Amino acid sequence: MKLNLNDFPYLTDTHKMIRESVRDFAEREIAPVAQELDEKAIFSYDLTKKMGEMGLMGITTPEEYGGQGLDYLAYVIAVEELSRVDSSQGATVAAHNSLGMGPILNYGTEEQKRKYLPKLVSGDALWSFGLTEPAAGSDSRGTKTNAKFDNGIWTINGSKTFITNGASKINIGTTAQTVTGEFENGKKEFTTFLVDADTEGFVRKKLENKMMWRASDTAELFFTDVKVPDENILGERGKGSHIMLATLDSGRLAIGAMGLGLAQGAFEMSIQYAKERKQFGRPIAQFEAIAFYIADMGTKIEAARNLLYRATYLKTIGKKFSLEAAMAKYYCSEVAKEVADLGVQIHGGYGLMKDYAIERFYRDQRLLQIGEGTSEIQKLVISRYLTTD
Ligand SMILES: Cc1cc2nc3c(=O)[nH]c(=O)nc-3n(C[C@H](O)[C@H](O)[C@H](O)COP(=O)(O)OP(=O)(O)OC[C@H]3O[C@@H](n4cnc5c(N)ncnc54)[C@H](O)[C@@H]3O)c2cc1C
Repeated sequence: MKLNLNDFPYLTDTHKMIRESVRDFAEREIAPVAQELDEKAIFSYDLTKKMGEMGLMGITTPEEYGGQGLDYLAYVIAVEELSRVDSSQGATVAAHNSLGMGPILNYGTEEQKRKYLPKLVSGDALWSFGLTEPAAGSDSRGTKTNAKFDNGIWTINGSKTFITNGASKINIGTTAQTVTGEFENGKKEFTTFLVDADTEGFVRKKLENKMMWRASDTAELFFTDVKVPDENILGERGKGSHIMLATLDSGRLAIGAMGLGLAQGAFEMSIQYAKERKQFGRPIAQFEAIAFYIADMGTKIEAARNLLYRATYLKTIGKKFSLEAAMAKYYCSEVAKEVADLGVQIHGGYGLMKDYAIERFYRDQRLLQIGEGTSEIQKLVISRYLTTD
């Protein structure tokens, strides 16, 4: 008997169809190359293009900008199914949709949307989200990158690090949080800018030698006297931090989907292995220790899926979802860690060999407790919501 992935009151026929088509694509196109891309740390332009052709680069983007116009649940299921096979491709899609296009879609002017979104849905172009800096990680208000206004032009100086999709040759720009001044109460004024990749003084460098998501692009960005016009401000001046943090609220659902998908993939391959591998004349699945591991894995995945889908459903119907999104991100990431770890245990020594996909899953899950707000920060956010009236 398998876990039921589709029997949720929130899921429509469209969601089920998305799952089926993305699963088919992931198994047919990604699975055969995932190990090699990981080993050689290659970002696949070919897969990115194909994911664009499938509509995965603009799942929730309205049709008038060339997207699929689907809801957030459809997006979460697509990311889940990609990550069931390969987290790197899941990361490319998740970072592009929620962090890249999300802020433009939610806060951009009509002109900005028309300028960027139709290109970004194609799979030929990526947009990145520049929040983290060398000295500003969990504390995003520690941003040092600054922008100064003079004669109708902003000049940006500073740097960003760990930026997904930022150095890829098809990246056409980044949303960057900058400090543009100080309010009367002494608090920093943050403003976000849309910075085109080809702007003079803007240098993008690939970060090499990652342990995980090795086929995903991660970048350092450097701004040296980068000049942008006023119309490149995203949203209002002074609302930058709000825009970036609200974007992360939705982004958490996608990271949750990556954790859930990775756990599902690790679970399935571990069950298959446990049924095939014989020791003491019996499949190891028949030993109580291994059977209990499988029971734990399945139960936690079921709980994670319920939590994530409900949080996503709340967003889909326009209700507050920040608390549930933080819970889903935290829980799905931790379940991914536990399931991948038990998966390696079930595989024994073979689980430590690169010939088995569980080895890659074990490495890939590690980012999920760190990226887009660490597990510690999620717990701070959750407890703050729960203790505020
Ligand atoms: C592969 C990858 C892709 C990424 N993609 C992007 C991207 O596209 N865009 C982007 O802007 N960023 C991106 N990031 C950055 C990521 O969001 C940060 O790494 C993350 O927010 C943590 O920041 P940090 O690494 O500086 O760790 P730190 O903030 O230095 O944290 C170090 C440790 O201290 C703990 N800690 C910090 N503050 C507190 C506190 N108040 N209470 C308790 N514990 C605390 C943390 O939980 C953690 O355990 C990416 C990172 C990676 C590795």
